[in-house]
Amino acid sequence: MVRKSIPEVERLKVWVRAGGRCELCGAYLLEGKLTYQEFTLGELAHIVGQESTPDSPRGMDPLPKDKRDLADNLMLLCRGEHNEIDRKGSLNVMTVERLRRIKSDREAWIRRLTGLNTEAGTVVIRLIGQVRGQEVELTKPTAAEAVIRSEERFPDFPLSLHGDGFEIDLRHVPGEQTGGLAYWEQCRLQIDRVLEHKLADALREDSVQHVSVFAFARLPLLVYFGSRLDDTFSVSIYQRHRRTESWCWPNSSEATVRFTTESHLSPSPTAPEGVLLLNISGTIQAGELPEPLSGLPRWTISLQDLTPAVDVINSLSALDEFTSVLRLFLSELEAGHKNLRRLHVLAAVPVSVAVAIGRVHDANVHPDLVVYDRTDGQYNAALEIS
Ligand SMILES: [Zn+2]
Repeated sequence: MVRKSIPEVERLKVWVRAGGRCELCGAYLLEGKLTYQEFTLGELAHIVGQESTPDSPRGMDPLPKDKRDLADNLMLLCRGEHNEIDRKGSLNVMTVERLRRIKSDREAWIRRLTGLNTEAGTVVIRLIGQVRGQEVELTKPTAAEAVIRSEERFPDFPLSLHGDGFEIDLRHVPGEQTGGLAYWEQCRLQIDRVLEHKLADALREDSVQHVSVFAFARLPLLVYFGSRLDDTFSVSIYQRHRRTESWCWPNSSEATVRFTTESHLSPSPTAPEGVLLLNISGTIQAGELPEPLSGLPRWTISLQDLTPAVDVINSLSALDEFTSVLRLFLSELEAGHKNLRRLHVLAAVPVSVAVAIGRVHDANVHPDLVVYDRTDGQYNAALEIS
Protein backbone atom coordinates (compact mmCIF):
# COMPACT_ATOMS: atom_id res chain seq x y z
CA MET A 1 0.00 0.00 0.00
CA VAL A 2 1.36 3.38 -0.98
CA ARG A 3 0.92 6.01 1.73
CA LYS A 4 -0.48 9.23 0.50
CA SER A 5 1.81 12.13 1.15
CA ILE A 6 0.61 14.99 3.32
CA PRO A 7 0.08 18.32 1.50
CA GLU A 8 2.92 20.79 1.98
CA VAL A 9 0.68 23.51 3.40
CA GLU A 10 -0.62 21.14 6.09
CA ARG A 11 2.95 20.19 7.02
CA LEU A 12 3.86 23.84 7.33
CA LYS A 13 0.86 24.48 9.61
CA VAL A 14 1.79 21.64 11.94
CA TRP A 15 5.42 22.76 12.23
CA VAL A 16 4.46 26.34 12.94
CA ARG A 17 1.71 25.50 15.44
CA ALA A 18 4.06 23.16 17.30
CA GLY A 19 6.82 25.76 17.46
CA GLY A 20 9.30 23.30 15.93
CA ARG A 21 9.17 21.05 19.00
CA CYS A 22 7.86 17.57 19.74
CA GLU A 23 4.33 18.04 21.01
CA LEU A 24 4.83 15.36 23.62
CA CYS A 25 8.34 15.74 25.04
CA GLY A 26 9.21 19.26 23.84
CA ALA A 27 12.45 18.25 22.06
CA TYR A 28 13.61 20.82 19.52
CA LEU A 29 13.35 19.14 16.13
CA LEU A 30 15.48 21.28 13.84
CA GLU A 31 18.86 20.56 15.37
CA GLY A 32 20.70 17.42 16.46
CA LYS A 33 21.27 16.92 20.17
CA LEU A 34 24.74 15.45 19.63
CA THR A 35 26.28 17.32 16.74
CA TYR A 36 24.23 20.51 16.90
CA GLN A 37 23.89 20.33 13.15
CA GLU A 38 20.75 21.45 11.44
CA PHE A 39 18.48 18.49 10.80
CA THR A 40 14.77 18.08 10.28
CA LEU A 41 14.13 15.49 12.95
CA GLY A 42 10.38 15.88 13.41
CA GLU A 43 7.76 13.50 12.10
CA LEU A 44 4.11 14.13 11.45
CA ALA A 45 2.02 11.63 13.38
CA HIS A 46 -1.64 10.94 12.59
CA ILE A 47 -3.98 11.17 15.55
CA VAL A 48 -6.74 9.27 13.72
CA GLY A 49 -4.80 6.84 11.50
CA GLN A 50 -4.50 7.62 7.82
CA GLU A 51 -6.54 4.56 6.78
CA SER A 52 -9.85 3.26 8.15
CA THR A 53 -8.39 -0.19 8.80
CA PRO A 54 -7.53 -2.03 12.02
CA ASP A 55 -3.86 -1.92 11.00
CA SER A 56 -3.77 1.85 10.92
CA PRO A 57 -3.30 3.08 14.53
CA ARG A 58 -6.50 4.74 15.82
CA GLY A 59 -7.81 4.39 12.25
CA MET A 60 -11.23 2.98 13.21
CA ASP A 61 -12.68 6.39 13.91
CA PRO A 62 -15.58 8.18 12.21
CA LEU A 63 -13.29 11.04 11.03
CA PRO A 64 -13.78 11.26 7.23
CA LYS A 65 -10.85 10.26 5.09
CA ASP A 66 -10.39 13.68 3.51
CA LYS A 67 -9.81 15.20 6.97
CA ARG A 68 -7.15 12.75 8.06
CA ASP A 69 -4.19 14.39 6.32
CA LEU A 70 -5.02 17.87 7.54
CA ALA A 71 -3.03 19.73 10.19
CA ASP A 72 -5.82 19.36 12.76
CA ASN A 73 -5.30 15.57 12.71
CA LEU A 74 -1.50 15.67 12.76
CA MET A 75 1.01 16.11 15.55
CA LEU A 76 4.65 17.03 15.30
CA LEU A 77 6.59 14.38 17.23
CA CYS A 78 10.08 13.08 17.65
CA ARG A 79 10.71 9.73 16.03
CA GLY A 80 10.77 7.73 19.26
CA GLU A 81 7.43 8.98 20.47
CA HIS A 82 5.83 8.72 17.06
CA ASN A 83 6.85 5.11 17.05
CA GLU A 84 5.65 4.55 20.62
CA ILE A 85 2.15 6.03 20.30
CA ASP A 86 1.48 3.82 17.29
CA ARG A 87 2.45 0.58 19.08
CA LYS A 88 -0.40 -1.79 19.97
CA GLY A 89 0.39 -1.61 23.72
CA SER A 90 0.00 2.14 23.91
CA LEU A 91 -3.12 2.59 21.79
CA ASN A 92 -5.51 2.36 24.75
CA VAL A 93 -3.52 5.01 26.64
CA MET A 94 -2.64 7.38 23.81
CA THR A 95 -6.21 7.63 22.59
CA VAL A 96 -7.61 10.00 19.99
CA GLU A 97 -9.18 12.15 22.73
CA ARG A 98 -6.00 12.36 24.78
CA LEU A 99 -3.78 13.21 21.80
CA ARG A 100 -6.22 15.85 20.58
CA ARG A 101 -6.29 17.45 24.00
CA ILE A 102 -2.49 17.48 24.33
CA LYS A 103 -2.14 18.90 20.83
CA SER A 104 -4.67 21.68 21.28
CA ASP A 105 -3.38 22.72 24.72
CA ARG A 106 0.18 22.82 23.52
CA GLU A 107 -0.58 24.71 20.32
CA ALA A 108 -2.67 27.29 22.18
CA TRP A 109 0.16 27.75 24.67
CA ILE A 110 2.76 28.20 21.93
CA ARG A 111 0.61 30.67 20.09
CA ARG A 112 0.18 32.68 23.25
CA LEU A 113 3.86 32.59 24.17
CA THR A 114 5.01 33.64 20.77
CA GLY A 115 2.46 36.46 20.75
CA LEU A 116 3.89 38.04 23.88
CA ASN A 117 6.30 40.72 22.97
CA THR A 118 7.44 41.65 26.42
CA GLU A 119 10.70 43.21 25.35
CA ALA A 120 9.67 45.46 22.55
CA GLY A 121 5.88 45.60 22.55
CA THR A 122 3.87 48.52 23.78
CA VAL A 123 0.16 49.08 24.13
CA VAL A 124 -0.88 52.44 22.75
CA ILE A 125 -3.47 54.53 24.61
CA ARG A 126 -4.74 57.72 23.03
CA LEU A 127 -6.59 60.50 24.81
CA ILE A 128 -8.03 62.67 22.08
CA GLY A 129 -9.51 65.97 23.08
CA GLN A 130 -9.45 69.61 22.21
CA VAL A 131 -7.71 72.61 23.67
CA ARG A 132 -9.77 75.76 23.14
CA GLY A 133 -11.35 74.38 20.00
CA GLN A 134 -8.05 73.17 18.55
CA GLU A 135 -7.39 69.55 17.66
CA VAL A 136 -4.25 67.75 16.58
CA GLU A 137 -3.81 64.77 14.34
CA LEU A 138 -3.56 61.63 16.46
CA THR A 139 -4.39 58.64 14.30
CA LYS A 140 -3.21 55.08 14.77
CA PRO A 141 -0.46 55.35 12.12
CA THR A 142 0.77 58.58 13.71
CA ALA A 143 1.08 56.92 17.11
CA ALA A 144 2.62 53.79 15.60
CA GLU A 145 5.30 55.77 13.80
CA ALA A 146 6.18 57.70 16.95
CA VAL A 147 6.74 54.61 19.12
CA ILE A 148 8.81 52.88 16.45
CA ARG A 149 10.97 55.91 15.72
CA SER A 150 11.35 57.12 19.29
CA GLU A 151 11.91 53.88 21.17
CA GLU A 152 11.98 51.10 18.59
CA ARG A 153 8.97 49.55 20.21
CA PHE A 154 6.24 47.74 18.32
CA PRO A 155 2.82 49.21 18.80
CA ASP A 156 -0.13 47.11 19.79
CA PHE A 157 -3.73 48.32 19.58
CA PRO A 158 -5.40 45.38 21.28
CA LEU A 159 -8.83 44.13 22.11
CA SER A 160 -11.15 46.83 21.05
CA LEU A 161 -14.38 46.50 19.21
CA HIS A 162 -13.19 48.45 16.19
CA GLY A 163 -9.53 47.47 16.35
CA ASP A 164 -8.63 51.00 17.35
CA GLY A 165 -7.01 50.08 20.64
CA PHE A 166 -7.52 52.23 23.66
CA GLU A 167 -8.92 55.47 22.51
CA ILE A 168 -10.59 57.96 24.79
CA ASP A 169 -12.33 60.48 22.60
CA LEU A 170 -13.39 63.62 24.43
CA ARG A 171 -14.12 65.67 21.33
CA HIS A 172 -17.87 65.33 21.61
CA VAL A 173 -18.13 66.33 25.25
CA PRO A 174 -19.78 69.77 25.27
CA GLY A 175 -18.29 72.74 27.11
CA GLU A 176 -14.61 72.41 26.24
CA GLN A 177 -14.03 76.10 25.59
CA THR A 178 -15.39 77.28 28.90
CA GLY A 179 -14.27 74.25 30.90
CA GLY A 180 -16.94 74.26 33.62
CA LEU A 181 -17.26 71.66 36.36
CA ALA A 182 -19.77 69.65 34.30
CA TYR A 183 -17.21 69.39 31.51
CA TRP A 184 -14.44 68.14 33.81
CA GLU A 185 -16.79 65.65 35.41
CA GLN A 186 -18.03 64.20 32.15
CA CYS A 187 -14.49 63.85 30.79
CA ARG A 188 -13.35 62.27 34.03
CA LEU A 189 -16.08 59.62 33.73
CA GLN A 190 -15.09 58.89 30.16
CA ILE A 191 -11.42 58.43 31.09
CA ASP A 192 -12.40 56.12 33.96
CA ARG A 193 -14.67 54.09 31.73
CA VAL A 194 -11.87 53.17 29.35
CA LEU A 195 -9.08 52.77 31.86
CA GLU A 196 -11.01 50.89 34.52
CA HIS A 197 -12.85 48.48 32.30
CA LYS A 198 -11.22 47.98 28.94
CA LEU A 199 -7.62 48.45 30.02
CA ALA A 200 -8.04 46.45 33.22
CA ASP A 201 -9.45 43.54 31.20
CA ALA A 202 -6.63 43.70 28.69
CA LEU A 203 -4.05 43.81 31.45
CA ARG A 204 -5.48 40.64 32.92
CA GLU A 205 -5.53 38.81 29.62
CA ASP A 206 -2.44 40.08 27.86
CA SER A 207 -0.03 40.80 30.70
CA VAL A 208 0.76 44.26 29.38
CA GLN A 209 4.20 45.41 30.48
CA HIS A 210 4.59 48.67 28.64
CA VAL A 211 2.18 51.38 27.63
CA SER A 212 2.69 54.38 25.34
CA VAL A 213 0.46 57.31 26.09
CA PHE A 214 -0.56 59.93 23.55
CA ALA A 215 -2.67 62.74 24.86
CA PHE A 216 -4.08 66.04 23.78
CA ALA A 217 -6.63 67.71 26.03
CA ARG A 218 -7.06 70.47 28.59
CA LEU A 219 -4.42 70.40 31.30
CA PRO A 220 -6.50 69.20 34.28
CA LEU A 221 -7.63 66.22 32.19
CA LEU A 222 -4.05 65.34 31.28
CA VAL A 223 -3.06 65.28 34.95
CA TYR A 224 -6.12 63.22 35.82
CA PHE A 225 -5.42 60.81 32.96
CA GLY A 226 -1.84 60.34 34.19
CA SER A 227 -3.07 59.66 37.71
CA ARG A 228 -5.31 56.85 36.48
CA LEU A 229 -2.54 54.88 34.78
CA ASP A 230 -1.65 51.80 36.75
CA ASP A 231 1.76 51.38 38.40
CA THR A 232 2.05 47.77 37.26
CA PHE A 233 3.41 48.65 33.83
CA SER A 234 5.94 51.19 32.66
CA VAL A 235 4.73 54.11 30.61
CA SER A 236 6.25 56.27 27.89
CA ILE A 237 4.53 59.60 27.49
CA TYR A 238 4.34 61.27 24.09
CA GLN A 239 3.42 64.78 23.08
CA ARG A 240 3.21 66.62 19.84
CA HIS A 241 6.24 68.83 19.35
CA ARG A 242 5.47 72.20 17.95
CA ARG A 243 8.80 72.69 16.23
CA THR A 244 8.66 69.45 14.23
CA GLU A 245 4.85 69.09 14.17
CA SER A 246 5.49 65.46 15.07
CA TRP A 247 4.76 63.11 17.97
CA CYS A 248 8.20 61.52 17.70
CA TRP A 249 10.60 62.50 20.45
CA PRO A 250 13.40 64.38 18.71
CA ASN A 251 16.85 62.82 18.81
CA SER A 252 18.05 65.55 21.03
CA SER A 253 21.73 66.14 21.54
CA GLU A 254 21.03 69.45 23.20
CA ALA A 255 22.07 70.25 26.75
CA THR A 256 20.19 68.49 29.52
CA VAL A 257 17.17 70.26 30.92
CA ARG A 258 17.39 70.89 34.67
CA PHE A 259 14.85 72.12 37.19
CA THR A 260 14.97 73.98 40.47
CA THR A 261 12.55 73.86 43.39
CA GLU A 262 12.04 76.93 45.54
CA SER A 263 9.86 77.47 48.56
CA HIS A 264 8.14 80.73 49.52
CA LEU A 265 6.63 82.23 52.64
CA SER A 266 8.76 79.95 54.86
CA PRO A 267 6.08 77.28 54.87
CA SER A 268 4.75 76.31 58.24
CA PRO A 269 5.26 72.60 58.85
CA THR A 270 1.70 72.29 60.18
CA ALA A 271 -0.21 73.92 57.28
CA PRO A 272 -2.95 71.65 55.89
CA GLU A 273 -2.85 73.18 52.38
CA GLY A 274 -0.19 74.49 50.05
CA VAL A 275 0.38 75.68 46.50
CA LEU A 276 2.64 74.26 43.80
CA LEU A 277 3.48 76.43 40.80
CA LEU A 278 5.04 74.79 37.77
CA ASN A 279 6.72 77.28 35.45
CA ILE A 280 7.96 75.28 32.50
CA SER A 281 6.22 76.29 29.30
CA GLY A 282 5.31 79.65 30.78
CA THR A 283 5.52 81.62 34.00
CA ILE A 284 2.73 82.01 36.54
CA GLN A 285 3.25 85.06 38.73
CA ALA A 286 2.40 84.98 42.42
CA GLY A 287 0.01 87.86 41.73
CA GLU A 288 -2.12 85.62 39.49
CA LEU A 289 -3.01 83.25 42.34
CA PRO A 290 -6.69 83.18 43.30
CA GLU A 291 -7.24 85.11 46.51
CA PRO A 292 -7.80 82.10 48.86
CA LEU A 293 -4.42 80.67 47.85
CA SER A 294 -2.35 83.77 48.34
CA GLY A 295 -1.56 83.20 52.03
CA LEU A 296 -0.67 79.51 51.74
CA PRO A 297 2.85 78.07 51.75
CA ARG A 298 4.02 77.92 48.17
CA TRP A 299 6.58 76.02 46.16
CA THR A 300 7.73 76.61 42.61
CA ILE A 301 9.41 74.19 40.24
CA SER A 302 10.96 75.99 37.31
CA LEU A 303 13.63 75.60 34.66
CA GLN A 304 17.24 76.18 35.57
CA ASP A 305 19.06 78.51 33.15
CA LEU A 306 16.36 78.26 30.49
CA THR A 307 13.49 80.48 29.46
CA PRO A 308 10.10 78.80 29.76
CA ALA A 309 8.87 77.64 26.34
CA VAL A 310 6.39 75.17 24.92
CA ASP A 311 9.05 72.99 23.31
CA VAL A 312 11.45 73.02 26.25
CA ILE A 313 10.82 69.34 27.09
CA ASN A 314 12.63 68.14 23.99
CA SER A 315 13.56 64.59 24.92
CA LEU A 316 12.44 61.64 26.99
CA SER A 317 15.38 62.26 29.30
CA ALA A 318 14.22 65.84 29.94
CA LEU A 319 10.83 64.42 30.89
CA ASP A 320 12.48 61.82 33.13
CA GLU A 321 14.44 64.58 34.81
CA PHE A 322 11.25 66.49 35.56
CA THR A 323 9.63 63.31 36.87
CA SER A 324 12.42 62.65 39.34
CA VAL A 325 12.45 66.28 40.52
CA LEU A 326 8.71 66.15 41.15
CA ARG A 327 8.95 62.75 42.84
CA LEU A 328 11.67 64.06 45.15
CA PHE A 329 9.64 67.17 45.91
CA LEU A 330 6.55 65.13 46.82
CA SER A 331 8.48 62.75 49.04
CA GLU A 332 10.15 65.64 50.86
CA LEU A 333 6.74 67.16 51.31
CA GLU A 334 5.48 63.92 52.73
CA ALA A 335 8.40 63.71 55.14
CA GLY A 336 8.57 67.37 56.19
CA HIS A 337 4.93 68.49 56.06
CA LYS A 338 2.93 65.63 57.48
CA ASN A 339 -0.16 67.78 57.99
CA LEU A 340 -0.39 68.89 54.39
CA ARG A 341 -3.61 67.42 53.02
CA ARG A 342 -4.12 69.32 49.79
CA LEU A 343 -1.77 70.76 47.25
CA HIS A 344 -3.19 73.30 44.81
CA VAL A 345 -1.41 72.86 41.48
CA LEU A 346 -1.18 75.70 38.97
CA ALA A 347 0.84 74.61 36.01
CA ALA A 348 2.19 76.18 32.84
CA VAL A 349 3.57 72.97 31.39
CA PRO A 350 3.73 71.00 28.14
CA VAL A 351 1.37 68.07 27.63
CA SER A 352 3.90 65.39 28.57
CA VAL A 353 4.69 67.08 31.88
CA ALA A 354 0.99 67.35 32.73
CA VAL A 355 0.54 63.60 32.25
CA ALA A 356 3.72 62.95 34.24
CA ILE A 357 2.38 64.97 37.20
CA GLY A 358 -0.59 62.65 37.50
CA ARG A 359 1.57 59.61 37.01
CA VAL A 360 3.99 60.56 39.81
CA HIS A 361 1.23 61.37 42.27
CA ASP A 362 0.52 58.55 44.69
CA ALA A 363 -2.83 59.03 46.40
CA ASN A 364 -1.80 56.74 49.26
CA VAL A 365 1.09 58.88 50.48
CA HIS A 366 0.92 62.30 48.83
CA PRO A 367 -1.49 65.15 49.58
CA ASP A 368 -4.54 65.40 47.33
CA LEU A 369 -3.92 67.47 44.22
CA VAL A 370 -6.32 70.22 43.24
CA VAL A 371 -5.55 70.95 39.61
CA TYR A 372 -6.35 74.41 38.27
CA ASP A 373 -7.48 75.45 34.83
CA ARG A 374 -6.78 78.85 33.35
CA THR A 375 -9.67 80.42 31.45
CA ASP A 376 -9.92 84.12 30.57
CA GLY A 377 -6.82 84.87 32.65
CA GLN A 378 -8.36 83.38 35.79
CA TYR A 379 -7.28 80.22 37.58
CA ASN A 380 -10.14 78.00 38.76
CA ALA A 381 -10.04 74.65 40.55
CA ALA A 382 -11.02 72.02 37.98
CA LEU A 383 -10.33 68.51 39.26
CA GLU A 384 -9.27 67.05 42.56
CA ILE A 385 -7.10 63.96 42.53
CA SER A 386 -7.30 61.99 45.72
ZN1 LIG B 1 9.22 13.62 21.65
